[in-house]
Order: sequence, then C-alpha cells, then structure tokens
Amino acid sequence: MSKRHQLVPARVRSANGSVTPAQPPSAAHRTDSVSTESVLRPTLATEPLALPVEVIRVAQVSPSMVRVTLSGERLLGFASRGADQWVRIFLPREGQRRPVLPATERWWPETCAIPEPIRPIVRNYTVRRSRPTAGELDIDIVRHGECGPGTRWAGRVRVGDRIGILDQSTTYTPPPYLPWRLLLGDESALPAIGSIVEGLPAGVRAIAFVEVPSPLDTQHLESAADLTVHWLPRTPGLRVGVRVLTALRDARLPDGCPYVFLSGEQRLVRNARRLLLAGRNYDPKALCFMSYWRLG
Ligand SMILES: Cc1cc2nc3c(=O)[nH]c(=O)nc-3n(C[C@H](O)[C@H](O)[C@H](O)COP(=O)(O)OP(=O)(O)OC[C@H]3O[C@@H](n4cnc5c(N)ncnc54)[C@H](O)[C@@H]3O)c2cc1C
Repeated sequence: MSKRHQLVPARVRSANGSVTPAQPPSAAHRTDSVSTESVLRPTLATEPLALPVEVIRVAQVSPSMVRVTLSGERLLGFASRGADQWVRIFLPREGQRRPVLPATERWWPETCAIPEPIRPIVRNYTVRRSRPTAGELDIDIVRHGECGPGTRWAGRVRVGDRIGILDQSTTYTPPPYLPWRLLLGDESALPAIGSIVEGLPAGVRAIAFVEVPSPLDTQHLESAADLTVHWLPRTPGLRVGVRVLTALRDARLPDGCPYVFLSGEQRLVRNARRLLLAGRNYDPKALCFMSYWRLG
C-alpha cells in the first residue's frame, strides 16, 4: 500500500477532491514557487477529481477585481486548509460550454494529453471565502487586461458558466510564538491577505502593505485583530512592486521578528525577501512566500 493511501481509509472521498499531482506544475504559472512552508500537503483523497462547478454570482469588488462565486454539489463540506488556500481552475476553450476535466490523480499528465483544441486552460486562484454548508466559494480575480485567459475569462464571466476546480494547498501557517504579522503583496495577493486578516483573532498585531492598481482598488477588510493596512496605489509608469518595496524599506516596524506572508509578482517577492532577511535580519523560517505571477 502506498504511503498516500495509508493516510485515509480506502474509498473515502474528500469533498475537495484534493490531489497531489504526479508531476505538479509550478504553482505560480511560469514562475518559481518556493516557500519554506509551502509544501503540498499529504493527499487526503482517494478519488481525486477536478470538481465541476457553476458560476452563481459575479460581483465587481473594485475596478480591477471581480468576485466570482462558484457552486457545486461536491463543494458541500469543502474543507478549509488555511487562510491562503488556493485552487487550480480549469477554464473551457472558446466554443465549449464546459471544460473537459481530468478524472484521475495523475491529473497533470492527463490534462496535458487532452488534445489542444479541447484542453482546459489551468490557472491558480485563492479561495477568498468558502461556505461549505452552502457548497459555495468565492474567488477574486484581478482584471489586468486582455492578455491572459484568466483575466479574459474574468472579463466576460456570466452566471451559469461552468468551470472546474482542484483544491491545492496553503502556505500561511504561523507558529504561535511569533509576536506579530507582516503581510505584503500586490493586488493578486489581496484575496489571500483579506482572508488572512479576517481570520486573525483579537489581540494579534498585524501590519499589511498592499499595492493596488489605483486608489479605487482599496477594499474594506474586516478583522478582529489590531490591524493597520497601508494601501499603496500604483503610480502610473511605476513597475509593479516598487511601492511595496519602498514602503517596506522605509517602514518603522514593531520590534521582534513577525510571521511574514509575502506574495505577488516574482520580482517583488524576490526583492522583498532580500529586504526582510538581509535588511531586517528576520528568521527565514518566519517567512512564507510565493511568487504568484511574473511580469513579462
Ligand atoms: C497560489 C496562487 C494564488 C493566486 N491567487 C490569485 C488570486 O486570488 N487572484 C488573482 O487575481 N490572481 C491570483 N494568482 C495569480 C494568477 O494565477 C496569475 O496572475 C495568472 O498568471 C493570471 O492568469 P492570466 O491568464 O490572467 O494571465 P497569464 O496568461 O498567466 O499571463 C499573461 C500576461 O499577463 C501578465 N499578468 C499575469 N498576471 C498578472 C497580474 N496579476 N497583473 C498584471 N499582469 C499580469 C503576465 O505577465 C503575462 O504577460 C495566484 C497565483 C498563485 C500561484
């Protein structure tokens, strides 16, 4: 019996259809994706499948952000893995009403073997909120133009559209002994940061630096914690990430090494890590970071 199957009773189906692919593609599409704590969790399912889901609501959160609410029978009981839980979404090709979804736990090679004209397009998004008893979850998608299938889909998504999702993993796992939280990212990290701060208990100090495309893209974030959010609207012409990096370099931060969540554009993540480790001498083990996308 494989190690994987020792983890769960045989024939138990996870509501999430969780899966560790045989050869997982990088989480960040075409980017590196490394984190001291970002290992894929042990697989919990014996019948991994991409879940068919339907769009039941579409809402404009801000000019650059669309919230898509997905519903499906297999989302009933969808387990929360953590605040920055992410999923892969499978989008249909043009002309298809629904995507062809992989059915086996070797979902990645299986997906690659689907003939290109009907092969689903796979992208990564964070679960902004899930309502397991209603079988619903929200994903917030940045509309960054017409230059990618994810953003294009977010621009034309309608109630009734059908896609697939595959539950993946989480990186945000703060140990209790670190005194405060530092959250850093661009707009692609905002769903994760929003979810993290909503889950923080009262009494925890948290400071967030969030770069957004425009002043209209700030959001109201609910939190019981002692939270300060520094919204950093991008100045036209400035490269993504520069505002966060400048703010981080100049910030007067509380004493002690925080638990750091850092995500967003690849160069932002790389340079912010440097500022945190070499500049501020934080413990590398206190950082969870992931490149979400790469400018190019
Ligand atoms: C674990 C994880 C969680 C994520 N969660 C979210 C989330 O909740 N919401 C979200 O919106 N994104 C999220 N992302 C990022 C998202 O997966 C990427 O932005 C993805 O590349 C978007 O796909 P696309 O088809 O729109 O563009 P692609 O086809 O991947 O890229 C096309 C072009 O668009 C550019 N581009 C890609 N993304 C962006 C962007 N965000 N801003 C500006 N230009 C961009 C690329 O540089 C490229 O030139 C997450 C990524 C990871 C790895």
